[in-house]
Amino acid sequence: MPALEFDQRPKELQHLAVKGVFVCGCVERGDGSRFRAQAHAHTSKDDPYCGWICFLSPKRLSQKMLCLHELAHIISGCGHNDKYRKVLREIGGRVEDQYRKRFHLRNNPPSKCPKCKRQPTKMSETHFYCPKCDYDIYFSKKTGREISPAPWFFSGKELSLGREEQI
Ligand SMILES: [Zn+2]
Ligand SMILES: [Zn+2]
Ligand SMILES: [Zn+2]
Repeated sequence: MPALEFDQRPKELQHLAVKGVFVCGCVERGDGSRFRAQAHAHTSKDDPYCGWICFLSPKRLSQKMLCLHELAHIISGCGHNDKYRKVLREIGGRVEDQYRKRFHLRNNPPSKCPKCKRQPTKMSETHFYCPKCDYDIYFSKKTGREISPAPWFFSGKELSLGREEQI
């Protein structure tokens, strides 16, 4: 039976937002049909199977993180965007590296030195410097946010880490 009964579903997918769970193919094309990922969620409102999750193999049903990944698509109705990531974290999932938000640091330089208001010099993607004020401006690689004046001013993790590499 490629379409699972509600109580046959993995616990994570016994959720009312999930209209159905299909195993061994895509619900749209039937038993044995192939697709690229291990699983996918139908989220388009025009899709008659909106709310369904399809798995290539029943083995994957026991992968909790994969189930939560697809469930977050169904609840959010979105691809891998901010709304999706928020829902995934709320239901106890983890955002895998490849679906994390990407920050384009080079497009986000500080326009002015906060002290003298001149354009700072770019030292690297995450480090800008005002030679006049001898002022460093750093950006976090993880969040894209400014962590000025300098990471070694901060207590905890950053303090113990190297200067350029860790931010
Ligand atoms: Zn499908
Ligand atoms: Zn996904
Ligand atoms: Zn300055």
